Amino acid sequence: MAAVNGAGSDNQPAKHQEVGHKSLLQSDALYQYILETSVYPREPEPMKELREVTAKHPWNLMTTSADEGQFLNMLLKLINAKNTMEIGVYTGYSLLSTALALPDDGKILAMDINRENYEIGLPIIQKAGVAHKIDFREGPALPVLDQMIEDKKFHGSFDFIFVDADKDNYLNYHKRLIDLVKIGGVIGYDNTLWNGSLVAPPDAPLRKYVRYYRDFVLELNKALAVDPRIEICQLPVGDGITLCRRIS
Ligand code: SAM
Ligand code: CA
Repeated sequence: MAAVNGAGSDNQPAKHQEVGHKSLLQSDALYQYILETSVYPREPEPMKELREVTAKHPWNLMTTSADEGQFLNMLLKLINAKNTMEIGVYTGYSLLSTALALPDDGKILAMDINRENYEIGLPIIQKAGVAHKIDFREGPALPVLDQMIEDKKFHGSFDFIFVDADKDNYLNYHKRLIDLVKIGGVIGYDNTLWNGSLVAPPDAPLRKYVRYYRDFVLELNKALAVDPRIEICQLPVGDGITLCRRIS
C-alpha cells in the first residue's frame, strides 16, 4: 500500500520524518531516494548544520525540506536574483539557501514575528559568510509591506519573494507583493498543497490547524489561477510551491 504523509505502510515513521517532512510523493522510499541520491550529497555544509540543529527544535515541522531548499537555491541562480524578500523565516533554512544563491552584494529583506527562532540559525548563517546580505525585521510582515507600497521606489524592485508564513494572510500579501515584485520577477507561495488536505473528503479527520487554514489555501489557489497579472506553475515540491511570474 502507498505510504500516506510520510508514514510507512507498517505505520513506523519513515527515515525522513527525522527532519519533520511530509512527502507528497506516492512512495516514501522514492522521496528518501531523492534525498540520498541528489540532495544530501550536494547540500552545502552550513545548510546541513542548520537542518540538523532545526531537527532538534520542537517546531521542526515548519522548516523547509532539503529538496525544496535545493530547488530554491537553483531557481534563484537561474533567474539571477539579487534583491529578494522572505516572509516567514523560522530558523532560516530557506533564508540560508537564498543567501547562498545570491551574489555577494545581493539582499534579502527577511521578516518574522519571532526573532528567537531566527537566532538559532543566525550563528550558522554568520559562519557561512552570508549574514551581510540579510536585513531581518522582527514583526508582522503586512505593515512593512504597506510602508513599502507608500514609497514608489520599492515598486517593481524585487526579483524574487518567498512567502512561507501565515496562510490566512497570503491573499493580503499577494495584493501588495504584485506591486513590489518586478515585471518578470517571481513570487513563490509555499505550502499550496497544504499537506494533501485540499482534496480530502469533508469528513476526513484533519488536525485542527490543517482544517482551519485549508480554506485559505483553497481560496489562494483559486485566486492565483485566474489572476491575469501573473503566469503560474504549481509544483509538488515540499508541501507544494506555486511560482508566480509577474507579467503586467
Ligand atoms: N521558511 C522557513 C524555513 O525555511 O524554515 C519556515 C517558515 S515557518 C513555516 C512560518 C513562519 O512564519 C514562522 O516562523 C512564524 O513565526 C512566521 N509568521 C507567522 N505569522 C507571521 C506574520 N504575520 N509576519 C511574519 N512572519 C510570520
Ligand atoms: Ca513552508
